[in-house]
Amino acid sequence: MFDMGGPAGGDLLDQLRAGGLARPRVDPDQIAAVRSRLEHAARAHTAGLDPGTVVRVSKQDVTTILACEGHAAAERRAKRPPTQAQVLGILMDAVFRHLVTTGSAEDPLRVAREALEVDAERNADIVAYLDGLAPGPGSELARGVEAMTRALTRRWPSLPARFHPRTQERSVVSLAGGAVVLSGVLDLAIGVPDGMSARVCLVDVKAGKPRVEHRADMHFYALIETLRSGAPPFQVASYYLTDGRLDREAVTAVVLESATRRCCDAIERLCRLADGKEPSLTPNPLCPWCAARPGCAPGRQWIDRKEAHDGDA
Ligand code: SF4
Repeated sequence: MFDMGGPAGGDLLDQLRAGGLARPRVDPDQIAAVRSRLEHAARAHTAGLDPGTVVRVSKQDVTTILACEGHAAAERRAKRPPTQAQVLGILMDAVFRHLVTTGSAEDPLRVAREALEVDAERNADIVAYLDGLAPGPGSELARGVEAMTRALTRRWPSLPARFHPRTQERSVVSLAGGAVVLSGVLDLAIGVPDGMSARVCLVDVKAGKPRVEHRADMHFYALIETLRSGAPPFQVASYYLTDGRLDREAVTAVVLESATRRCCDAIERLCRLADGKEPSLTPNPLCPWCAARPGCAPGRQWIDRKEAHDGDA
């Protein structure tokens, strides 16, 4: 399950610090242009909504609605219980936070559960999932948490105080007078924005395999951080617990442009759904797992074609 290689200790610190990477000067005109485009999209597309409607936009919302409006609508209706992989990811986020803030990750299952119970209402489905497991430490989920924690504590360095590490920082950006709210919770932010240059590195911890949308997720976080603090991060990264790899990317003007375009597009589509419009259907690789699949002809045709193609291959 685990590749016990990957960078560790000082190597990981070097990557987080990105010593060789320039800290770009903040361009206030660029940030003003980004904010203006998002504000324009939010005002234009919320204009016809019922007063008091709030359109919430998270990284998952952006990815899902851009893949298929029908899928996004179905997932909101379905309210499916969490999968084991999702629960594992949430537990490991809590373990990671505990390790960064206390330097220890003893008894990770207990630590994670106690962290979830701090906000029991919000985490009710995860706590219910844990309550439904057979008692004792022998479950597959428990073994996964223990193994990932061992790998994490072996690799993850102690962060110096001068890094100003912050965990689970919630970022919120309101647009169109609060009619659209962009939000995200970062696993780790290091560095402090100084208003003159990009000085922050954002890190998201992943318990699963690398996926193409992870980079787009980090671009969304970079966009929120830019709007919230007035300066873009200099770097964003996904940290993969299974192999210890830190997938880093410098936050360039191209990254911010791409994130802005995707976010404007997502706002438009989410507002269409909030207005009760019929969602458009875009068959895509999510179709086999989509809650709308039984009643979605384009999705079923896509799956049939894919299965026929896979069978021929
Ligand atoms: S089955 Fe596919 S096309 Fe249909 S709603 Fe779901 S993701 Fe969209």
